[in-house]
Amino acid sequence: MNCEIIAVGTELLTPHRQDTNSLFLTSRLNELGIDVLFKTIVGDRRAQLAGEVRVALSRTDVVITIGGLGPTEDDVTRAAVADALGIRLRRNPEIVGALYARFAARRALMTENNARQADVLDGSVILENSCGTAPGQWLDTVYGEHRKLVILLPGPPQEAKAMFDLECMERLRAVAPKRSIATRTLKAAMIGESQADARIAPIYGRYHDVETTILAHTGDLTIHLACGKSAMEMARQRVDELAGKIEEELDEYIYSSQGESLEQIVLDYLGMRGATLAVAESCTGGLISERLTSISGSSRSFLGGAVVYSNALKTSLAGVPQTVLQEHGAVSRETATALAEGIRSKTAATYGIGVTGIAGPGGGSDEKPVGLVYVAVSNGKHTSVVEQRFAGGREAIRFRASQQALDMVRRQLM
Ligand code: AMP
Ligand code: MG
Repeated sequence: MNCEIIAVGTELLTPHRQDTNSLFLTSRLNELGIDVLFKTIVGDRRAQLAGEVRVALSRTDVVITIGGLGPTEDDVTRAAVADALGIRLRRNPEIVGALYARFAARRALMTENNARQADVLDGSVILENSCGTAPGQWLDTVYGEHRKLVILLPGPPQEAKAMFDLECMERLRAVAPKRSIATRTLKAAMIGESQADARIAPIYGRYHDVETTILAHTGDLTIHLACGKSAMEMARQRVDELAGKIEEELDEYIYSSQGESLEQIVLDYLGMRGATLAVAESCTGGLISERLTSISGSSRSFLGGAVVYSNALKTSLAGVPQTVLQEHGAVSRETATALAEGIRSKTAATYGIGVTGIAGPGGGSDEKPVGLVYVAVSNGKHTSVVEQRFAGGREAIRFRASQQALDMVRRQLM
């Protein structure tokens, strides 16, 4: 069974408002084994919305509209759906009575336009709105000789959520063919999207029943796997099998097989080893600390660190010898090494990270171009240091540098 979600509202076509309801709905529908094939956004225009409802009915089994059920002139969903299906709206006296009672309870006068919320598509079931006034509707109908479900939900997110959970989940479960969807999220660091895809496409290409999606974000790669079957066990087995093969192929690039963030994984590993970490950050300006401390419980393993932008602070806070700065410069293999070793010994941490580089857009030279970054990790006995030439703007370079640093610690802990 599949579905199209139509978000209704002119404001959703502006830069100021986003359709968020469809995200929640999609996760619930997937729980029921229903695939969302299309999401559409239409303004508050009756003819356009009616046209879109017809398109949706022609290509999916379930059509859900969200929004446009209020009392005002621009709330056109009921009328547009009636137009699309060629059926009538009837004013339901019970809903009108309930609306009057609701207003009376708040000692407010109900204006006539509120009664529009009582207009019901012929043959539909009324869905109670436990958080607001506009009721929803559920219509089991036939369109072009096929059985279709049309569901009208209100726009305000709490109302849409409550109505879907309380009034629609069980009804849908009863009609949806029994199908379970298993999902897995693998994450990889410091590997490009095209490089990763070149390696794994031949593998996931053989799993036609598993939907594989790859999302890349500056040095962080997310691979989503999803498989729907009549029994959860079967779906889970297919997803696990493919996940295992992808993990084998991308090997040490994979840092998580259950969707955790890199900072979470680093903290987990540190915790398991009873190890601690401190950082001396120059070009990342505290980003590594920010990423680690955004995770609750990080204080068990992350001691803290210093943002050492000036040479003076590199020396006073992270113990970088002045001779190193004079001989090699602030952006150098030697300075990164000294930062990692210095902050480690000053804080008595198990691991020390040192990062220095040129985040740009200014400050680059032929010898030391924008994007040149040195990342060092020291464990007291040994210090590894990596030179990278990152592409992208300032933000991307800083994020990649933080990613490189966290990934190096992870690899040492593995
Ligand atoms: P409506 O039911 O169309 O009058 O919408 C009522 C409120 O819910 C407005 O503030 C809308 O911006 C908001 N809203 C409507 N549809 C959505 C949606 N798909 N996602 C998030 N908010 C929405
Ligand atoms: Mg609206």
